[in-house]
Amino acid sequence: MGNFLEMKLFHPENSLILIVDDVNDNLELVAAMLEPMGYKMVFASSGLQALKLVPVVEPDLILLDLMMPGMSGLCVCEKLTSNPETAEIPIIFLTASRDKENLLQAFEKGAVDYITKPVYVPELLARVRTHLELKFSREQLKKLASTDPLTGVWNRRYLFTLAEQELNRAQRYDRPFAVLIIDIDHFKRINDTYGHTVGDEAIVFMSQTVLNCLRKVDSFGRLGGEEFMALLPETDTDAAFLVAERIREMIENIVIPARGKQVTMTVCIGVASYTFGNDTVDFIIQRADEALYQAKNQGRNRVVANTYKP
Ligand code: GH3
Ligand code: MG
Ligand code: MG
Repeated sequence: MGNFLEMKLFHPENSLILIVDDVNDNLELVAAMLEPMGYKMVFASSGLQALKLVPVVEPDLILLDLMMPGMSGLCVCEKLTSNPETAEIPIIFLTASRDKENLLQAFEKGAVDYITKPVYVPELLARVRTHLELKFSREQLKKLASTDPLTGVWNRRYLFTLAEQELNRAQRYDRPFAVLIIDIDHFKRINDTYGHTVGDEAIVFMSQTVLNCLRKVDSFGRLGGEEFMALLPETDTDAAFLVAERIREMIENIVIPARGKQVTMTVCIGVASYTFGNDTVDFIIQRADEALYQAKNQGRNRVVANTYKP
């Protein structure tokens, strides 16, 4: 099984480049220059078309003509960089003008670079590759900072960020929001019986099992050790209890194949939910923790919901 999260290498041929130019000959010219590098490419012949295409194809980089009739390149750039969904896509301007004023504006709107027409091939290739590599590294760093290296699920820090976001949403729209804290029972025994490596594999298997029990809108991560947290938007305490029961039952019934050993385990789950206007993430987690503690005291392999009312 091994580590879920490995450092990936940059493969430029996996990159998708969107080329935007109102002149067809220019699109063909740039495409021919990039082709030998194996990049995948998509094309747009207007600003509007580009804006429609970006959310659909999710390019890794955009080569954008500055001067276009209708919507200008600057306008397209501004729209893309001000939208959080597309702001991370590097934009390189293609410009015939050496007009410094325009270039300055391009950088102000969030472009990362520019290339002057007529395009000098080695320059185009070098700039494109550099910005693709930079984007790739940024994404890798972000992933490493937010995920747990053993299991690949969210780490503690990112879970708390997500919990804040979900609670804010619940408060703003007056919606339910529940938290589960899941702790493996007597995990020390699994380590003591089978060794730490099998213990690690059991943790990975268990976290994948929980992920399979959750919806797409839920978040799941590792708080530390053999303790996990799930965030369930649009879910009240009763519904969250049922989800927790399903997880508990599922884990009780799995046999984990780890290094030739057949490992079984049980979990306790503490459930709490957002219950009043200025409730906080820390307080909800504290209530889920109290419920978890009760579950452990009641003999383990159990779900307890905290039905706190202010
Ligand atoms: P309880 O039912 O009360 O939760 O008992 P427990 O043994 O699960 O709880 P305790 O907190 O006493 O021990 C947790 C154990 O989990 C101790 C620690 O060595 C082990 N552990 C924590 N992180 C890891 C890990 O990443 N890999 C492995 N193999 N073991 C871990
Ligand atoms: Mg435990
Ligand atoms: Mg523990």
